[in-house]
Amino acid sequence: MAATEKRMILRFVDEPGYTNDIECYLRHGGYEQLRKAVGMQSADIINEVKASGLRGRGGAGFGCGLKWSFIPPTNTKPVYLICNADESEPGTFKDRQIIHRDPHQLIEGMTIACFANRAHLAYIYIRGEFPEGARILERALDEARSKNFLGKNILGTGFDCEIYVHRGAGAYICGEETGLIESLEGKRPYPRIKPPYFPAVLGLYMSPTIVNNVETLCHVKHILSMGGAEYAKLGKPNNTGTRIIGVSGDVKNTGYYEFEVGALTLGELIYDVCGGIRNGNSLKAVIPGGSSSKILKAGEVYRIKQKGPDGAMVDRDLRLEDIPMDFDTMAAVGSMAGSGGVIVMDHKRDMVDCLQNLNEFYAHESCGQCTPCREGSLWMKKITTRLVHGEGRAGDVATLKSVADNIAGRTVCAFGEACSWPTQSFLAKFKDEFEAKAKAGVAI
Ligand code: SF4
Repeated sequence: MAATEKRMILRFVDEPGYTNDIECYLRHGGYEQLRKAVGMQSADIINEVKASGLRGRGGAGFGCGLKWSFIPPTNTKPVYLICNADESEPGTFKDRQIIHRDPHQLIEGMTIACFANRAHLAYIYIRGEFPEGARILERALDEARSKNFLGKNILGTGFDCEIYVHRGAGAYICGEETGLIESLEGKRPYPRIKPPYFPAVLGLYMSPTIVNNVETLCHVKHILSMGGAEYAKLGKPNNTGTRIIGVSGDVKNTGYYEFEVGALTLGELIYDVCGGIRNGNSLKAVIPGGSSSKILKAGEVYRIKQKGPDGAMVDRDLRLEDIPMDFDTMAAVGSMAGSGGVIVMDHKRDMVDCLQNLNEFYAHESCGQCTPCREGSLWMKKITTRLVHGEGRAGDVATLKSVADNIAGRTVCAFGEACSWPTQSFLAKFKDEFEAKAKAGVAI
């Protein structure tokens, strides 16, 4: 039986009035953690976040407290905080729910994060396609200012902090933190090369900058409320807390759910939480963490290393349905928990068609700065498009694989991996479908 939902971030999202009335938020303990934070030492807040083990909920799963501790302590430049609300990974739709239904939770988390990192200016970079979210946030920020939770001398402590909403123009690459920073500076969003441009050292306006995802920043107030050590008891070691999982595709009940990390398996999510595969169809495959995560195939066995009862590492075989949904196990089976966007595909799905859809997206979204990504994403789209249209050529499958293999690891930013992993994994798992399409095209 699947674990029951543990709604921490989503706890009040169905509460009437939460979107447009700060009083609702205040009635449920809103901004109490900010009051607590401004009475603490900033280093103590960072230590609590470190103790919590919170990992970023945007995709990479990097330690939040660790990221914060990269801000140079002797820094003399202004420090900036940026909330990455450019949620554009296909299959991912959780941050929008938070913004629309509980904007003050984000604002409180950001203000605490600013205080902890000695930042006085923060931006919410929201994707251009979320005009309603931007409007809701602007209104909530005005409410927070009117109550002195933002602005000058917050709550009489002498701490000044301002947050501005900045709307993007609708490019996926602005979700990459250095592309986002370039865009915020008013430039074309070409991601920067790391090193040297790690945002914590050389970020916005070449100043130290923290970039965190919406959901990640919302966890901060809960960590302060519970204490880092208590928060770390949620989930599993190295995979702590709760996380929001958005499910789309061929299940009966699509939607978003919040569980302790790793509390349920993919099978429990699909069959117990989402009601199973719709129309009486059977499960074919799952993309477990947003469209760039590698696809997992039903019926395959995934071997992972795990600590046995005596502490020694032992092999464990997992069916897709048995894979726990935590960061480390998803990585161990060759994919990633990523953004928490789970895409379920039933046995009627044409895998060539599905990959073409993804390749169309990635070819459109490549920023074009580096050749392997710019050209390669286009070629992958062209090849899968002709396969779908029955115009495949001999050698297409091998060429497709070769193109994908020559993008990953050869680009400025992780988009290179993001666009090649779908092709690599679809070919690894469903090569027969691609070869059949190529052969059919040649036969015509
Ligand atoms: Fe741009 Fe792609 Fe290069 Fe990233 S990998 S910088 S998206 S061309």
